[in-house]
Amino acid sequence: MDQKFDVIVIGGGPGGYACAIKAAQLGFKTVCIESRVDAKGKGALGGTCLNVGCIPSKALLDSSQKFVEAKHDASVHGIRIDKVDIDIPIMMGRKDKIVNQLVGGIESLFKANGVTWLKGQGQLLANRHVEFTEHGATESQKISADHVVLAAGSLPIKIPVAEVDQDRIVDSTGALNIQEIPKKLAVIGAGIIGLELGSVWNRLGAEVILLEAQPTFLSIVDQQVRKEALKIFTKQGLDIRLGARVMGSKIQDNQVHIQYSDGQQDHTLIVDRLIVAVGRAPNTKGLVASDSGVTLDQRGYIHVDAHCLTSAPGVYAIGDLVRGPALAHKATEEGVMVAERIAGHYASLNYDLIPSVIYTHPEVAWVGSTEDELKANGDEFKMGTFPFAANGRALAANEASGFVKVISDTKTDRILGVHVVGPQASEIVMQAVIAMEFSASTEDLQLICFGHPGLSEALHEAALAVDNKAIHAAPKKSR
Ligand code: FAD
Ligand code: AMP
Repeated sequence: MDQKFDVIVIGGGPGGYACAIKAAQLGFKTVCIESRVDAKGKGALGGTCLNVGCIPSKALLDSSQKFVEAKHDASVHGIRIDKVDIDIPIMMGRKDKIVNQLVGGIESLFKANGVTWLKGQGQLLANRHVEFTEHGATESQKISADHVVLAAGSLPIKIPVAEVDQDRIVDSTGALNIQEIPKKLAVIGAGIIGLELGSVWNRLGAEVILLEAQPTFLSIVDQQVRKEALKIFTKQGLDIRLGARVMGSKIQDNQVHIQYSDGQQDHTLIVDRLIVAVGRAPNTKGLVASDSGVTLDQRGYIHVDAHCLTSAPGVYAIGDLVRGPALAHKATEEGVMVAERIAGHYASLNYDLIPSVIYTHPEVAWVGSTEDELKANGDEFKMGTFPFAANGRALAANEASGFVKVISDTKTDRILGVHVVGPQASEIVMQAVIAMEFSASTEDLQLICFGHPGLSEALHEAALAVDNKAIHAAPKKSR
């Protein structure tokens, strides 16, 4: 007889581990199957996010930003630093330490909550049976459960025109482990991951060229915000080439020769290293047997309903495996929602209010609708912006680029979207998420007393500007 559990979770990333912990907290006998091993061959929970995604990239972004500040910005404050240097192995070692600490933390949380971690590969069979192959085992075992949650995440998309060797041509995982500063670095894809990784190496002194096939920079981002962001990033030295489609690449004399077309002409670019950051694809290979009852949608994601239930009864799928933004916090909240629903509790996720952040410097962050989306829908809206250049705290911190933009419904005054490019945008946007979750109107934000001096005052003033009532900006003439 198969060993029987209440809940089997396949995948121990932010979706899977959160789901497993929540299920155990709700009293279910829960196992989580996770196959990842680290560089030393040790099993590792935490998924893409902790091991090769959010956390290591932010560690490198923070180190490289501190380097830039010491080298270029300290003098503005009157601080004289004669020689600023960076030791890349120490920077990488710090990143690895943070990753290990957090990965170990998830293992402790599993122990504390009574989640069993099965180290190896899982595959969903029919009727909620799961085949589990332990690392190193020659034979697999079968287990089953009343509920199975698929949380296998995603993998970097591979393109034949730039084959990754994790040496000269790397994907996002390899880009987190480059051991020396390249003189010249190219990145294919100026999306969120490409911009973050490109920024790290640009700050450390590499000449960075981003090749982006789309003619529009960051087309998912609000038009005013992306225009400002492009201006800021270009000033920082990122060479962002739009409408540049990579057609081929080869390694010659230890360098990467890249062929790309700008639509009119073909170009060759020679760099020391190339990062391929052209998006991620759901990791469904070998995850479900053909008779499992689980179906995929047209784009290869596992098909789920609004509550992450797949086409197979009792089988759920969450995170990067399914529709919606490929973000860690979205995966986590789906995991928690699924565990609650398994317990028979009411739970749902407001997909309209998932915040997005690009962790460049300054950050770009947004929630809700963009101006373009509302225009395309024919919705009536009003908007206000407020620049950080008029915010005392931003000026005091020498961080006065960018602005906050608030968009609201003309008739109801309800806030529809908040878009930020500027210091601490990720934190400012969360205030908008909370307000919008409670269906706040612009007037609600206008009437709140914000602490002074604070970066968040820019959100307050942008809300006031929606009705042409900003205190620290000249009113529009039509008033
Ligand atoms: P994953 O984190 O991918 O975890 C899935 C796990 O399942 C993996 O560990 C895998 O080993 C395991 N697995 C797969 N198949 C099997 C199987 N058959 N059996 C057993 N185990 C299996 N998101 C943010 O929100 N903020 C950020 O700042 C951010 N930065 C990022 C930076 C980079 C460079 C990258 C690559 C991603 C970043 N992301 C960020 C995205 C984020 O990492 C993902 O959205 C998130 O990890 C998805 O979580 P998940 O649980 O769905 O899957
Ligand atoms: P994201 O999906 O945010 O990770 O961004 C990936 C980006 O890579 C998208 O903006 C794509 O347009 C871009 N991209 C994909 N393939 C190519 C290619 N061959 N050359 C240049 N850019 C590409």
